[in-house]
Amino acid sequence: MTSIHVAERVRRIKPSPSSSAADRANQLKREGRSIVSLVVGEPDFDTPAHIREAAAKAMNAGATRYTALPGTVELRQAIAAKLKRENGLDYDITEIIVGNGAKSVIYTALAATLEPGDEVIVPAPYWVSYPDMVLACDGTPVAVACTEDEGFKLTAQKLESAITPKTRWLILNSPSNPTGATYSIEAYKALAAVLARHPHVLVMTDDIYEHIRFEGGTAPHLLNAAPELRERTLAVNGVSKTYAMTGFRIGWAAGPRELIRALDTLTSQSAGNSCSVSQAAAAAALNGDQSFVAESLATYRERRDAIAAGINAIPGLSCRLPEGAFYLFVNCAGLIGKRTPDGKVLATDNDVVLYLLERVGVAVVAGTAYGLSPYFRLSIATSIEILNDGLARIAKAVGDLA
Ligand code: PMP
Repeated sequence: MTSIHVAERVRRIKPSPSSSAADRANQLKREGRSIVSLVVGEPDFDTPAHIREAAAKAMNAGATRYTALPGTVELRQAIAAKLKRENGLDYDITEIIVGNGAKSVIYTALAATLEPGDEVIVPAPYWVSYPDMVLACDGTPVAVACTEDEGFKLTAQKLESAITPKTRWLILNSPSNPTGATYSIEAYKALAAVLARHPHVLVMTDDIYEHIRFEGGTAPHLLNAAPELRERTLAVNGVSKTYAMTGFRIGWAAGPRELIRALDTLTSQSAGNSCSVSQAAAAAALNGDQSFVAESLATYRERRDAIAAGINAIPGLSCRLPEGAFYLFVNCAGLIGKRTPDGKVLATDNDVVLYLLERVGVAVVAGTAYGLSPYFRLSIATSIEILNDGLARIAKAVGDLA
């Protein structure tokens, strides 16, 4: 028997906790249990028709071959136009690279820049993938806990104390997954003042939820507050969340040419170009009718308001109203120490999450996966009927605790 050697860089990471939670919920469903899954972070809407039609048209017109490696000129022009129109940022198409989703672009950027032991500052709660990607690229994630009192946002003081000579990147995600926290121009200015003292630190902005912002309009960008950071900022984004295009796998990064060139080089020997048909669809999304964006936002807002109010009415649970994205990050400190009908004491948010799954079939993800406890993340990217069912079940489970 040959035993397969798995590289240390894989052994030091774990599969995405949200994918694992979704798998577990699906498994229970297959076993015949009634499960309400509030786990996944993907829009429940169909991709708008004009975008699907653009994909079909492109495929039938012969867009079935390799494309330019950093992305088609048409898509990079659409991205440059979008960055100008929506974000007030000027990028040439040679300063943009397209990849297989924002996820792969972020990974490529880390792989292209991290030396062993380089530190990456990741404000917590964070998107589950950042620390593991950093680890896979031989870096050291430095999680900085940002409390609910701080609006789950990184403060200038905390940034200052986290920076060392080994810091390579700061990753900022606004609006944030899992909290929805969104930085204002003033908050960005305070962070930029710290960064001005540490010119060796690069900044990655993950702007994937920029349009899911309940105040309306695109979320402010770090570079709007601090244009002087342009030469060391990589702005990452994609079409997955804004246009309900998760399966198309198109994301991109815009940044200084030297950095983009490094990403191009690594991509040329790894993923290659992104799917030709998906690139045509993404260009149609960016250049076409934008009414889907406002319509879906209105639906997310109704769900957010209703479900946050419902959560806040359950004794022992609370959540602040997220400013963006499509999650509620629920504080469950009030349940810690309570006893389940089986006599088990809930000691951690993991226990709470397991209890909700076992007792009432509600699947959510524990705060520990995002680097801050005791919380759980509940996705509102599902119908209000399912959300209300989930809420009623959570209320019942909490009511059964002693
Ligand atoms: N960043 C964040 C914060 C996310 O939540 C996600 C999706 N879960 C991504 C990036 C990845 O998006 P994409 O589909 O473009 O890879």
